Amino acid sequence: MTGRVTGGRVYLVGAGPWQPDLLTVRGQTVLGRAEVVVHDYLANPAILEWAHPEAELICVGRPPSRLSQAEINALLVERGLAGQCVVRLKGGDPFVFGRGGEEAEALRDVGVPFEIVPGVTAAIAAAAFAGIPVTDRRFGSTLAICTGHQRADADDSLDWPALARMDTLVVYMGARRLGAIAEQLMAAGKAPHTPVAIVRWATRPDQSTEVIRLDACAAAVVRPPATVIIGQVVELRTRIAWFEARALHGLRVVITRSQATQAGVNARLAELGAEVVQLPTIAIAGLSETAPVQAAVGALASYDWILFTSANGVRHFFAALRAAGLDPRAFATARLGCIGPATARCLDEHGLRADLV
Ligand code: SAH
Repeated sequence: MTGRVTGGRVYLVGAGPWQPDLLTVRGQTVLGRAEVVVHDYLANPAILEWAHPEAELICVGRPPSRLSQAEINALLVERGLAGQCVVRLKGGDPFVFGRGGEEAEALRDVGVPFEIVPGVTAAIAAAAFAGIPVTDRRFGSTLAICTGHQRADADDSLDWPALARMDTLVVYMGARRLGAIAEQLMAAGKAPHTPVAIVRWATRPDQSTEVIRLDACAAAVVRPPATVIIGQVVELRTRIAWFEARALHGLRVVITRSQATQAGVNARLAELGAEVVQLPTIAIAGLSETAPVQAAVGALASYDWILFTSANGVRHFFAALRAAGLDPRAFATARLGCIGPATARCLDEHGLRADLV
């Protein structure tokens, strides 16, 4: 590949929570430059579209063939030593419960240069998209992030009294152990009425947030991935929630128009919160039998009126005109009509004004 940085180099890139454009500009830049992209199966495929078209994409996390951390480290080392430019794409931030530190150490041990590109971590993304300021000086000023899932040999090593004193506590990987976590916090002095927000699939079009009291956590059924925010700041959500408040949030809309004409509609629907599924049932293509068009194009000057019935008609007509080696002078004195303003605009793009719309 051309235009690449030579010599092996590995970028540990945070992909952010899910929404593709939460990737940093730096992340997008190095992704476009990488010869190899090593990603987890949860990485949003839309982000992988920013990879160089010739890049080798290696998924290391699809069960049951999931690679162990040691195997992932070995893969990064091998490609780096082979002189390749590698992006290791990780959910959220590479250093927040992401084992990025272990990957960086493995690279350092063999002398492969690396760079860390931070990402928007789940705690920050979930809070922002749920409308919960993780800190707010009206409610205190301490924030802790912890995981509900420790190493097997270190279970329950958390300092619960210290965590219970935090104004805001954000728990990763806590979905399955939420009841036990709440019990520990209450036993350590956290008020039972403390509000708890459970944010599932933060930043995705189907993001959901449930708010309950700390003493109701034992009865809650939470499916991962979820980020749990515990503290008075959760109350601010009643005033600040914005993402889930959008008019079409939670709706999945199928667009059946041709791919080429979808962009504007897609963007508008997505902005209103809908998840847009593209399912084009029609495609616009040139005619396979071109003789009649060629004949018409060759005899344009003999017509009094030429009517265009769609923007697609205009585009294909001008393609035929160019293919015949002609330009708009071929219309001579023929008058031009259009059905609808979009068709007229398309004609205007070719430098011609419709006599009748
Ligand atoms: N490195 C990642 C965390 C990986 S641990 C980061 O910085 O975000 C995986 C945990 O992150 C999940 O169990 C969940 O608690 C949280 N998480 C990741 N993506 C999430 C999302 N889109 N919505 C809610 N929680 C998420």
